[in-house]
Amino acid sequence: MKIAVASGKGGTGKTTVAVNLAIALGSAQILDCDVEEPNCNLFLGYDLEKQEDVEIMVPELDSGKCTLCGRCADLCQYNAIAKLPRSIRLFPKLCHGCGGCTLICPEKAIIEKRRSIGLIEKGTNENCSIELFQGTLDIGEPMASPVIRQLQAHIDESTVAIIDSPPGTACSVIASVAGMDYCVLVTEPTPFGLNDLVLAVEVVRQMNIPFGVVINRNGLGDGRIEDYCRTESIPVLMRIPFDRDIAVLYSKGIPFVEAMPIWKENFRELYKHISKSVSYRGGV
Ligand code: SF4
Ligand code: SF4
Repeated sequence: MKIAVASGKGGTGKTTVAVNLAIALGSAQILDCDVEEPNCNLFLGYDLEKQEDVEIMVPELDSGKCTLCGRCADLCQYNAIAKLPRSIRLFPKLCHGCGGCTLICPEKAIIEKRRSIGLIEKGTNENCSIELFQGTLDIGEPMASPVIRQLQAHIDESTVAIIDSPPGTACSVIASVAGMDYCVLVTEPTPFGLNDLVLAVEVVRQMNIPFGVVINRNGLGDGRIEDYCRTESIPVLMRIPFDRDIAVLYSKGIPFVEAMPIWKENFRELYKHISKSVSYRGGV
């Protein structure tokens, strides 16, 4: 079972939900796909061990062979190649590694070389049944998706894999949610929360992934999220209250299921609901 935990905006409690769900289940994988700012390990405190670099192939130009025909620049959809009056200029950080320019060059003036853009680490902790994989995108690198895809290659299909997605609705979110059995959308009852939830719902609906909503800091704002979910027939899977005790545990980096056993039960119920939805659709 592969469950993505996503949100239309940052700071809604997505990581809190992902980590508490994994701990409540007792045995699970967490894949921290929020690769620009991975922070699941703030709650787990594991020792991290490097698994591998994430590399993409980028073009390199042999200007001696180039005839300035401009085909590579015309082909590149990402503006990573510019044809200047007397030269071809490559912008490796804009390159998405599609390999098209190498293929189209009639002079074989473009070759590909590897460039590292991030790394994958594994979190280990003796006697712990929660396995953590974390991806980190190097500072200044614009493309999170290759790191996310490589991170997801570590998913163990025999257990429950919980994916902590990046916030928002950009390509990196789509990369992290694609292929999941279910998506939990975490939101908060504020006007911003509603606005960004609506965008996130559009994305998962387009991707045809079953989903439900967790309302975090419930009681903080108004009832518009509830109204929206009712109107759109979206299940509200859980309401986490705007609660001082939970906030204090959060500030200390303690998953609140560890200190509040009732929430362990609540998260297990949430998982049961997800399992039923997935089975109903003929999934895992
Ligand atoms: S590999 Fe693809 S994205 Fe990169 S420069 Fe060539 S055409 Fe553009
Ligand atoms: S396609 Fe090849 S020959 Fe043509 S401009 Fe690009 S690098 Fe030069």
